[in-house]
Amino acid sequence: MQKQSAGSGSGVLIRGSLITLKRKCGKPTCACADGAPHTSPALSYSVKGKTRILTLRSADVPAIRQALNNYKVAAAELEKKALSGLRLTTLKIMNAKRRA
Ligand SMILES: [Zn+2]
Repeated sequence: MQKQSAGSGSGVLIRGSLITLKRKCGKPTCACADGAPHTSPALSYSVKGKTRILTLRSADVPAIRQALNNYKVAAAELEKKALSGLRLTTLKIMNAKRRA
């Protein structure tokens, strides 16, 4: 049986960014004591101005990456629509003023 990974499914949107957490576990005999620290993937996101961190299993990373990308695509699309709405409204109002 396959473990289900978080954020799977094509329509999921996530606003945030993937980061790598680094830490030393504190065991004096561990390789991290004088070498490279332990790393784990995590999702950094903010809600109401507060930054939160969700540590991830490495199996979750591809789906999270996909969902982050889905958000970027959707946000770019929305921005494009908002700009064209602004352009249309500006033209409409300028024309109306000209006729007045
Ligand atoms: Zn360690």
